Amino acid sequence: MMSERMTAYLRKARPLLIDGQWRDAADGALTPVHDPSTGRVIAHVAAGSDADVDEAAQAARTAFDDQRWRAMTPAARARVLWRIGDLIEHHGEELAALESLDTGKPIAQARDGEVPFAAECFRYHAGWCTKIEGATRQISTQPGRQFHAYTRREPIGVVGLIVPWNGPLVQASWKLAPALAAGCCCIIKPDEKTPLSTLRLGELMLEAGVPAGVVNIVTGDGVRVGAALVRHPLVAKVSFTGSTITGQAIVRAAAEDLTKLTLELGGKSPVIVFADADLDAAVTGAAQAIFANAGQVCVAGSRLYVEDGVYDEVLAGIADVARSIRVGPGQAADTQMGPLISGDHLDRVCALIATGQAEGATTVAGGERLDLGGGYFLAPTVLGEAHHGMRVVREEIFGPVLTAMRFAPEEEISVRANDSRYGLAASIWTRDLSRAHQLAARMEAGLVWINCHGIPDMAVPFGGFKESGWGRENGLEGLLEYTELKSVMVML
Ligand code: NAD
Repeated sequence: MMSERMTAYLRKARPLLIDGQWRDAADGALTPVHDPSTGRVIAHVAAGSDADVDEAAQAARTAFDDQRWRAMTPAARARVLWRIGDLIEHHGEELAALESLDTGKPIAQARDGEVPFAAECFRYHAGWCTKIEGATRQISTQPGRQFHAYTRREPIGVVGLIVPWNGPLVQASWKLAPALAAGCCCIIKPDEKTPLSTLRLGELMLEAGVPAGVVNIVTGDGVRVGAALVRHPLVAKVSFTGSTITGQAIVRAAAEDLTKLTLELGGKSPVIVFADADLDAAVTGAAQAIFANAGQVCVAGSRLYVEDGVYDEVLAGIADVARSIRVGPGQAADTQMGPLISGDHLDRVCALIATGQAEGATTVAGGERLDLGGGYFLAPTVLGEAHHGMRVVREEIFGPVLTAMRFAPEEEISVRANDSRYGLAASIWTRDLSRAHQLAARMEAGLVWINCHGIPDMAVPFGGFKESGWGRENGLEGLLEYTELKSVMVML
């Protein structure tokens, strides 16, 4: 439930953060924010425009040039990041309430999953601040002369961070924390549907000691604010998480200035269950892989391949789990799965399910909308006897819809599992370790889980093969995406 403090917070239209000041959009425009559990308007936030993006970019560039952040000692920057983690934890209840209200995700998941993970993200990156290193190199082309040659990792400059609505607090943290650890100055644009936790995070970042201008927040829609960020000549790099189609538009726009890009895009991740697997664990894991966050997860295990002999048993088990899930408003304590993000998205998911049914998939569970008082609810859905000719198997649905297929013991299942434009993640369920590792090596996916699915960790690089994206987030690799590599050669 919303505390009185949060109710008061939401009553006031939430402004932009530019150069350390909270201010209205240049043209005073506002945009409503909805609760997907009820469809009701819960808040208004500033609707930014090109003019706001320009001011934010100027502020960020000034902050970068006068070195108010990157020239702080690494240890001092680390302390600020650590304090952000502490403040996230301290304000965990209210951040979870905002996140649940804004996205519809179950409050327990927001409180016990997203909030601690966001805090951990800042603490993990606090550790990197003091460990960004170069190397010395030996020179061979100049016999008789002596050199001291070395490399430096420098912050890339002003970075534009564009995030989607499915995990706004964590996605914002995954970008802000490494950018700040590297010494960059940032402009973040949350999704227009889910800006609230990012705006609150902005307040906490100022409280933790992030200097004015180092983090700017411009809310508003993608076509205006997002596109203006990508086009802005002062933005040296854009880190984007969202759909593949928007990622492609960003690549085209970034070509103009050769703006550097990290792209975390869509997925259609396979879950492969062999007959020798711990089937109880596989059933629970496969259900969790597709129904967590109502399937609105980039790594959702949406294509299930089960070895022939155990297909019926596994599918029946997953269907039982699907039917037992308590669907309801995010804010209700006993809700296990919340609504989809919007009416438009629900319509799109239902239309896709209908194509699968028309093309011959059997509806083993769900398949219908749930009338729970105005929100955008869909029953957890399992479609059986699917095949690669179906749109539901080829396209990312981004909802709680599993498509299930069989495979024969002699089939090289990696061929079918890799038959996708996407390559974000995969999971393999088997007790045979050799087979698991050999298959992991054949998968075209940025992250392969064995006997588990959907477990993220700050230390594990995350990102996609193929149309699932460019670059990585998390781990040292994710941090280095926010740096430029400079070589220095000194003739002694
Ligand atoms: P989307 O691409 O429509 O929107 C994502 C963000 O981009 C939003 O902030 C939006 O305002 C902005 N945007 C929209 N048009 C833009 C433009 N022309 N220029 C710049 N910015 C623009 O994504 P969505 O459909 O709302 O989000 C779901 C998608 O995100 C799914 O495809 C999902 O797989 C993907 N996703 C990927 C990851 C990952 O790490 N790979 C994580 C979460 C979500």
